[in-house]
Parts: sequence; structure tokens; C-alpha cells
Amino acid sequence: MTLSEQTNDFSEVIENDRAHVWHHLSQHKKYETVDPMIMIEGKGIHVWDAKGNKYLDAVSGGVWTVNVGYGRETIANAVRDQLVKMNYFAQSAGSIPGSQFSKKLIEKMPGMSRVYFSNSGSEANEKAYKIVRQIAHNKYGGKKHKILYRDRDYHGTTITALSSSGQAQRKDQYGPFTPGFVEVPHCCEYRSQYGECDDYGIKAALAIEEVILREGPDTVGAIVLEPVTAGGGVITPPEGYWQKVQEICKKYDILLHIDEVVCGLGRTGKWFGYQHYDIKPDIVTMAKGVASGYAAISCTVTTEAVFNEFKNNPSDPMSYFRDISTFGGCAAGPAAALENMRIIEEENLLDNVTRMGAYLMDRLHGLKDKHQIVGDVRGKGLFCGLELVVDRKTKQPVDESVAQAVVADCFAQGVIIGATNRSLHGHNNTLCLSPALICTKANLDEIVGAIDKALTKVTAG
Ligand code: PMP
Repeated sequence: MTLSEQTNDFSEVIENDRAHVWHHLSQHKKYETVDPMIMIEGKGIHVWDAKGNKYLDAVSGGVWTVNVGYGRETIANAVRDQLVKMNYFAQSAGSIPGSQFSKKLIEKMPGMSRVYFSNSGSEANEKAYKIVRQIAHNKYGGKKHKILYRDRDYHGTTITALSSSGQAQRKDQYGPFTPGFVEVPHCCEYRSQYGECDDYGIKAALAIEEVILREGPDTVGAIVLEPVTAGGGVITPPEGYWQKVQEICKKYDILLHIDEVVCGLGRTGKWFGYQHYDIKPDIVTMAKGVASGYAAISCTVTTEAVFNEFKNNPSDPMSYFRDISTFGGCAAGPAAALENMRIIEEENLLDNVTRMGAYLMDRLHGLKDKHQIVGDVRGKGLFCGLELVVDRKTKQPVDESVAQAVVADCFAQGVIIGATNRSLHGHNNTLCLSPALICTKANLDEIVGAIDKALTKVTAG
């Protein structure tokens, strides 16, 4: 019997939540008239709330995280066993699961070598920025310290991670920001800054070079990019883009930092999003899918060359990366991550993502054929976006409230989808899908069916 089938009364839980919990990304006035939603159980791709409602979760825990699905007892057991044996020691020492997981992870990332543990995507990115800054100081007298980031990309919630994010509304009211972060243009072909052209990808990459030349190549240490932009509207890179970006990084000796916090561990059908594009990053960060939300763990992974800047620094042989993350030493993280990877391999989930991703894309194109409001369909693997527009010719984005109305209607039908939300000025109009990597055609049919009905309703009235 599931929890939701028992006759538990959760009214006290709801009232305590209403009185004391401050929800993320939420305006709380609504809870004066509506009960806060409390999720109490999950199994596979489904979740149940405290009122007994069952939902098909098409966004893996709301923010593309629970990649292997809910209720995985083997992960819970691996975490339990590890915690009873050895829960924590500062990561200046190692751990058995840390050692095992690092080896397994690096096997999937040819060219990469070292794994630095912390707790969240923001933190993993901050570690990467500190690595870049310290190399700038060690090697270039502090000069090559600037870090480029892209319009519409998101790299986290801390002030410096926000300083490196290209989402205007998320940044509003949190300045002043950390200096030394410089924005480059986005690469969303549907929203081309250069009109219609055959070589959009090349133009978008050359726009990065323009910024480098403007800033001075000897001041730019790194660029951080999402392989497929997530919260900025599920933006898949245009043809030729990544090759050119890699070339530009090499030309100016700029470290390429790929933020795999969303794409990491299977979401796009390969272990990492960047692996679709034949590029060789210097730093890769990851978090959400590393342990599918069963433990808080993030990783900053570097090449041996980057690591050696700290191990063998001729100007200061005793220097090292003077950084720590207290809970980067909690062994629950790598224990969960190791089992999470084992599941992805044993259940052939990368294959499933590729097959189901193709099916989902096909079905979404069907929605586009049927509904004029769908301007663009984008995605890679089980990571898709539907951009909604008022008019296909002018591409005027629908108001954010329209996308939210579609999300709300799907929710009322028992399907949880997402939408870009208060992050970009003018473009909060993309519906987002990222179901668990275990999903079936029947699950996808249910998701697409709900969106179809919701679009019909929203456009009718
Ligand atoms: N990078 C990307 C691409 C993200 O989408 C997010 C979170 N949505 C982060 C970094 C920040 O991760 P966290 O919330 O774990 O700090």
C-alpha cells in the first residue's frame, strides 16, 4: 500500500508548513487561500501529494533532477550502509565511495582526470571560478581573470554564480555583482540576432570572439557555457557552434568550462551533453543528476593539466587550491552517485533516453503541426522545450501567464510540466519537459496528451 492510499491526515503537516516553511521561488500570498503542496511519496515516474493526488512528473522533481526515478531502494540502501559505517570526514581525507565513484565517473569522461566534491551546482561552479582565478594569479599576475558567460544561461544562485548568469529577472535586485564576469550573446537560432542566415552557429560563436577581442584576450581566463541551455529556454546549440567555440578558446588560451548541472548523467542520451559535440572541455561541473536527488552532491571535474597548475606550480611549489566544502566530505553523496551510475548502466538508460527522446520529439512536432501557438520545438534526448508565440510570423512571445496557464492545466490533469519562469525579460514563454530517464512511450503519450488538451483550452479562451 502506498502512503497516499493510507488514510493519513496530513492537515497538521500542511498547517505547520504554511506557518513556518519559506518555499523556494514562491510568492506566499497564495497560501492564504490555497494549501501549500506537500509531496509525500514517489515511485518510478509518479509522485503523490499529501491530499492523495497522483501526478506523472514530467520534470524529474520539478528541476530536472530525479533522473533514475523515485523510490530506488538500492540507492537508499547504499546511502544507509555507508552512513552507518562512515558518514563523514573532511574531504582532505578520502572515502571508499568517493574513490570508487571518481574512477567510474572519469571512465565516462575521456580527457578528464580529477573530481572535486561539493554540494550544489552553484557551489561546483564557484569552485571552477576559483580555480580559474587562482591560475590567473599564479601564471598571469592576476590579469587573465575574466570569465565569460552567455546571455540566457544560468549557473546558480549564489551572488557570484548569479554574476555569471545571463538571466535578467533572476538578477534583478541582487546587485551589485562580483566583478570580472562578462556576458556574450546567446545562441538561440529561433531568436537569431543576425536575421535569417545559413551560418547562424558560426556567427553566434564569432560573437564570443568579438567580446574576447574587446575585453583583451590576455584578460580572459575562461568561458562557462551550458551544453544545452536549460532554464533559459531549452536552447540546443546551432550547427557548427561548438567546433568554432572550441577553436576560439584554443586560439586565445581560454579555459572551456562546461556546466553540466542539468545535462549531466544521461539527460540528453549520452553521459554528458558536451559529448554530442566532440569538444574537449578543461572543466566540467555537474550536480542534479549525479545522484538523482538521493543525496546532495556536486562535482567540479578538471583535466590533469588544470590540476597540475596547482600541483606543480614553479613560481610557488607549496601553493595548492585553498578551498574546502564541509559537506563535500559527506560520504552519502558519492555512495548514492555510484549506485545511480550503476543503475543507468544496468538498465541501459542512455539507450532508453535516445529512443524515448526521439519519440517525444516526434510527438512534440505533432503538437506544433496542430497548434499555431507552438512556435518552436527544441531538445536533446529527454530534455525538450516548446516555445509559445502569439504569432508565428512575428514570433512575438506569449505572455508568461499563458505558459503558466498551460502548466496549471496540465497539473489539474495530473501531469507536472515546467516553464521558463521569471528568469528572462520577455521570453518566459517556453514549456519544459525532462521526464525521468526510465520513462515509457505510454508515459510520454500521457504527457503530450495533457499538453495537447491544455493548449486547446488556453488558445480557445
Ligand atoms: N547550473 C545550471 C545549468 C542549473 O540549471 C542550475 C540549477 N537550476 C545550477 C547551475 C545551480 O544548481 P544548484 O541549484 O544546485 O545550486
